[in-house]
Amino acid sequence: MKVTLYNTLSRQKEEFIPYDKNEVKMYTCGPTVYWYQHIGNMFAYVWADIFQRTLKFADYNVKHVMGLTDVGHLVSDDDSGEDKMEKGSRREGISVWDLAKKYADQFFKDTASLNIQRPPTVCPATHYIQEQIDAVKKLEENGFTYQTSDGIYFDSSKDPTYGELAKLDIEGLCAGERVEMAEKRCKTDFALWKFSPKDEKRQMEWDSPWGVGFPGWHIECSSFCLSTLGEYVDIHTGGIDHIPVHHTNEIAQNKGITGHRVVKYWIHNNFIVKADGTKISKSEGDKMLVENFVEKGYNPLAYRYLILSAHYRKQMKFSEDLLKMAQTALERLNEKVLELKKETQEISETTHAVAWLNKIKVVLFDDFNTAQAITVFRDSLNSDLTDSEKLYIVQEVDRVFALDLGKEIQILIPENIKELAEKRLHARQNKDWAESDRLRDEIETLGYSIKDISEGYEITEKK
Ligand code: AMP
Ligand code: ZN
Repeated sequence: MKVTLYNTLSRQKEEFIPYDKNEVKMYTCGPTVYWYQHIGNMFAYVWADIFQRTLKFADYNVKHVMGLTDVGHLVSDDDSGEDKMEKGSRREGISVWDLAKKYADQFFKDTASLNIQRPPTVCPATHYIQEQIDAVKKLEENGFTYQTSDGIYFDSSKDPTYGELAKLDIEGLCAGERVEMAEKRCKTDFALWKFSPKDEKRQMEWDSPWGVGFPGWHIECSSFCLSTLGEYVDIHTGGIDHIPVHHTNEIAQNKGITGHRVVKYWIHNNFIVKADGTKISKSEGDKMLVENFVEKGYNPLAYRYLILSAHYRKQMKFSEDLLKMAQTALERLNEKVLELKKETQEISETTHAVAWLNKIKVVLFDDFNTAQAITVFRDSLNSDLTDSEKLYIVQEVDRVFALDLGKEIQILIPENIKELAEKRLHARQNKDWAESDRLRDEIETLGYSIKDISEGYEITEKK
């Protein structure tokens, strides 16, 4: 069955035809690990996971690679300002290496809780310094670079197709505004290699043919892509914010290095916004983590369900109320599957069941329409299929949905309820029965029941 997807490059839905039908090569820009990745960032990774799972569902072998930005990344997109890693290290009083480890660990913990499959190859920029130097050397050999007092720059005027992804109007970009551009020849030029400042010892710096320094942000993704996937990459994913600068520069570098187009399909996810329409900012990232919602008693897969109910190219609103509704919807769906499992342990792959599954595939393979796929899936559960045929559908769709359908849901008890229960236990040990009763009432008011058992207590959610 054919898969179609929206290619940002052509601004059209196109039939997916990989370079090599035996192996799809897919690259995803990874997290910057100087700070938390909030639930907005997770939107990008859940979708990348859906893309690769859907392609596997369509019987492709998928080689998925993700980058990890643990070096460089200057505060400003125009290659000036402080290095975000060094800044983060000072803020937290730990080394940049420990900082990168801390936030990468947190990232993988959160992505695992959302059932995002970890790409088999993850490339931290610090492990690929030689590859990045080699890429800059190649660009230099091919005449795409120039040197200034603070680094080696990509000369965007050398690429006649520069800006095609973002449909940038590059006329006039190389003229005027000299102050803003410093020594850059053109506004769209960007750093490939930055020299370490003479008066400052950086924690992360490397020797290079041009002097001690560190790689620019954009060169890392081209280097990871080319060194792990080769010169022909089928899909590249990331958020829409990367279209005008990061991905535009990646395309220019790829062409400068190889002489041809490397990535065939560019897929970009839209943004998650709060109820008031504003973006979740990095500064509130530590309050908008998957983990924060788990502490409040939400199943992280309720967030995955909420995302699947949206479309990756549309802006998605987020609020706790919407998350609550998603959790209820997921619980109901799961109860339905658990009822089926009570009736039968059998899974039947009949022609009738496959016909229903194909209906789901048709919508899913049409630009990853998970929301529609969930609707058709629900219809299949209400259809004349037998219970064992329905269980076949459940088993198959959950290879993409990854909502753990049919697994007993563990009720996650919020931290504040656990604290009250601990206080109550303490009160009981001190034979303070009045306080114990008061705490029981408080727990009940918050929607939970507490029962005393020999090992301490048992908390359940009130129905
Ligand atoms: P960053 O660490 O800022 O480079 O972000 C990592 C990924 O998350 C990128 O692909 C961004 O495009 C994406 N992203 C950042 N904020 C949001 C958001 N509010 N909604 C969806 N994706 C986002
Ligand atoms: Zn990237």
